[in-house]
Parts: sequence; structure tokens; C-alpha cells
Amino acid sequence: MPREYSNYINGEWVSSDSDETFEVVNPADTDEVVAYFQSSTKRDTESAIEAAVAAQDEWADTPGPERGAVLKQVGNALAARKEEATETLVKEEGKTRSEASGEVQRAIDIFHYYAGKASDLGGVVKSASGRNKNLSTKREPLGTVALITPWNYPIAIPAWKLAPALASGNTLVHKPASAAPNVSQILFECFEEAGLPAGVANFVTGSGSEVGAPLSDHDDIDAVSFTGSTAVGTAVAQSAADDLKRVQCEMGGKNPTIVMPSADIGEATDIVGVGAFGTTGQSCTACSRAVVHEDVYDEFVDSITDYANSLDVGAGLEDPDMGPHVSRSELDETLEYVDVGRKGGATLAAGGSELSGGEYDDGHYVEPTVLTDVTSDMRIAQEEIFGPVLSVLKVGSFEEAVEVANDVRYGLSASIVTQDISEANTFIDDIEAGVAKVNEKTTGLELHVPFGGYKDSSTNTYREQGDAGIDFFTSTKTVYVNY
Ligand code: NAP
Ligand code: MG
Repeated sequence: MPREYSNYINGEWVSSDSDETFEVVNPADTDEVVAYFQSSTKRDTESAIEAAVAAQDEWADTPGPERGAVLKQVGNALAARKEEATETLVKEEGKTRSEASGEVQRAIDIFHYYAGKASDLGGVVKSASGRNKNLSTKREPLGTVALITPWNYPIAIPAWKLAPALASGNTLVHKPASAAPNVSQILFECFEEAGLPAGVANFVTGSGSEVGAPLSDHDDIDAVSFTGSTAVGTAVAQSAADDLKRVQCEMGGKNPTIVMPSADIGEATDIVGVGAFGTTGQSCTACSRAVVHEDVYDEFVDSITDYANSLDVGAGLEDPDMGPHVSRSELDETLEYVDVGRKGGATLAAGGSELSGGEYDDGHYVEPTVLTDVTSDMRIAQEEIFGPVLSVLKVGSFEEAVEVANDVRYGLSASIVTQDISEANTFIDDIEAGVAKVNEKTTGLELHVPFGGYKDSSTNTYREQGDAGIDFFTSTKTVYVNY
């Protein structure tokens, strides 16, 4: 029997007011219900906010190193459950075992990183414009914050919001994505085990309308950190702005990799291939467009087509090259985009179909797909697809490559494959993206540097991760002392 999980409010595991639950299904085998979660109501959300507000002063007054010690224990508790968390992640979201294990390790590392940061929140001392005066700044927590996260990195993204929020002395309510709440739930068990005081971190599952929306506009919430689609993020930002909450939304992408004639095509293929098909293309930073110079276009198309065709697709637990889509609706959307692409004039060079027969009939499997002869005005070159679909666009020059790369509403991650130092540096200067990479895939982030998008990929208020994580979750107070 699959387990039924509870909300975590004020240090207690409690059922929803609704007396209803929803199921989380294994995308590799849709007959398997992984677990049941609470279909929470607005009232549940409000009681979580109330608990977080009540716990606020004491947690804010707890010395940073003491808060850090709790976070370190959280990281250790998760490390002790790494295998279990990895398998849970595979079962609820569909990632391969290697991808899931890497993501759980990332969450552990994030808790350990911000455990250290909690001792180091800092502030600055400046020279005052007179004698017998001190001039300095100190950082203070914002208060009670709401964290709303997507299903595609269901433990790393909650971790990179929860850890800096707690390190900085905030209390919080977390709403995980309904498709994959199980690994967040494990994090909250780790909070309990680590001795985080009751009410400091609260976990409420349920819909965007009953939990997400009330969190975004509640008067007692001081800040909202959201990651998800641009459509939902825009609504969240607007509702948070009504009462001047601090808000940060990190959203969709349409990330390009430029391939120039000096590139080694084997290397370019690996960079684009892993970026496009890793995590089944379900990364905000996934490579969705290969922008390829005409001199190497044919060679690159042959090579990336072979790459896509060679990938072994299967159930994540067996650790194939690529797992299933998270849900039927995401799979349908991918297939629809393949259709849109073909009707729009693109050529299907690899994949394009749902996989069937044998184990494929049990889950949401799709072939790694390459569409060529794509032009920048086509919908498949403009809209986020969020599946393993790569569009290949041909360009005649470096300047045209950058222009095409920038010709979208998004600006999250971008990369170039080149041996030309001038192209590499001009790309870094001119690309409209929050992350610019040379000779590297668009996916993959280091945890101690800022992450966030340009243009419609982000509200562009604050970055996440590294020091930027602390910046978002603290206010700066400027202190003048005369003596
Ligand atoms: P989503 O549909 O926008 O959902 C994100 C979160 O918002 C979920 O927890 C969702 O709850 C909740 N939500 C839904 N409606 C809401 C509302 N009206 N008010 C408040 N919250 C609401 O995104 P997703 O499908 O989970 O994730 C995929 C998207 O995330 C892609 O666009 C991807 O590019 C983006 N993403 C961006 C980044 C980044 O850092 N830039 C990272 C990862 C993913 P339910 O699950 O219950 O609907
Ligand atoms: Mg969605």
C-alpha cells in the first residue's frame, strides 16, 4: 500500500482540513501509485502561515552559528538517507538513477554550504564623516517567507530556497509541486530529525489555487521565492507586488548553444546532446536550440542525429541514458510541438514519436527528437517545449548566431562551442542570458555562484544560490552610532 503523507505545520504532521488526498504516480509505470499527499485548503495554508509567524522572533534571535548547526544536521540526515531519497525521486519524477543521485547530493551540499553561511551573514563597516561616529550595516531576516517550487528538480530547488531562507533567520511555508512532493517531504523529516524548532519551516501540499495563490498574496508573508513557468510566475509576481512583498520568480527558458566552425564536432555533439536530452529535456536550462554555423551544419546534424538515436531510453531505476516524461500531459505537449514543428516546415531528423511496446507501454516515454531546418520565426524556435526536443538552426556568421540566440523572450542559460577567443568573449558580452558558458552545456550549475535569468526568464529582482541566496532573504539595516 502506498503511504499517505501529511502536511508539516508547527512541528506536527497533520492532515488537511479537506480530508482529501491526491496521488503521485510513477511516470515509468503509471499503475504504481508512489504515495498520497494532502489536498490542502486555503485554511491549511493559513494555519501554516500563522505557525511560521509565531516562530519568527525566536528563530531570528537564534545566533547564526546555532542556525547553521541545525542546517548541518539537516544535510547529514539527508546524506544518511541518500539512497532512499534517490529512489523516491526516480519513482515520482522519472529521472535516471544517476541524475537523481546527483540531485540529492546537490541538496546535501546546499545545506552544508548554507550551514557555513549562517555564521557569516556579515554586514560592512564604513568610515563615518566625522569623529566619534560609527557607520555600519547589518543584515536581518525578512520575516516569514513563502517558497513555491516546480517538479523538475524536486529536491535541489527546494533546498536552494529553504537553506538560505533558514540560514538567514526567516521562518517559512513551502509548497512543493504536486507532481513530485515526496522528496521535499523527506527534507522536512530531516528538519524534524535535526531539531529545527516547531513552526520555523512548514510544508503544505496541494493545488496552486488553494496553497500557492494564498501564499503569494497573504499579508503576513514578507517575501515570495517562486520557480516555475513564466505564466504562473508572472501571476505570482503581480499578486505579491500588491502589498509590496519582496518577490523573486525564476521561470522558463529557450536556451541556445552556438556551434562555430572551430569547434570539435564530437565535443559539440556531447555538449548539445547532454544539454538537450539530459533529464528528458525537462530542465529550465536545457539546450533547446543548436545555432550552427553553415560550414559545420551538415556534419553537426549527422552527428547529433546519431547521438539522439543512440540513447537508451527506459525506467530511471535501471539508469538508462534518458528516463520518461514526468506526466501524460507533458508528453502530449512534446508530441504536439513535434507536430507544430513539422507543419511549420522543420525536418524531423531523429525521434519524434511516443515509444511503445514492452515496458514503454507502462509509462510516459518519448524518443529523443531532433528537428532541423528550423528558422527563428517558427514556434518551436520561440516557445519553451520542456521535453527532449532539439531544434537546429543554420546561420552564416558569428554575428548572426548571436542575433538568433538572442531572438527569444527568454534569457536563462546560453553556451557557445568555439576555439576562437574573440568569439568566446564577444559571446559573453553580447548574449542576453543570466548564465553564459563557453565550451560547456547549458545545463549544470555550481551552487556557490548566482543563478537567474534575463528577460522573461526572471523577475530580475534578485539571483538565487551562493551569496545571492542570502541577499534575497535578508534586509540591510544601516546603523549610525555617535559616541
Ligand atoms: P508551474 O506549473 O509554473 O508550477 C510551479 C509551482 O507553482 C508549482 O508548485 C505549482 O503547483 C505552483 N502553482 C500553480 N499555480 C499557481 C498559482 N496560481 N499561484 C501560485 N503557485 C501556483 O511549473 P512546473 O510545471 O512545475 O515546472 C516547469 C517550469 O518551471 C518550466 O517552465 C521551467 O522552465 C521552470 N523552471 C525554471 C527554473 C529556473 O530556475 N529558472 C528551474 C526549474 C524549472 P502545482 O504543482 O500544484 O500546480
Ligand atoms: Mg507546468
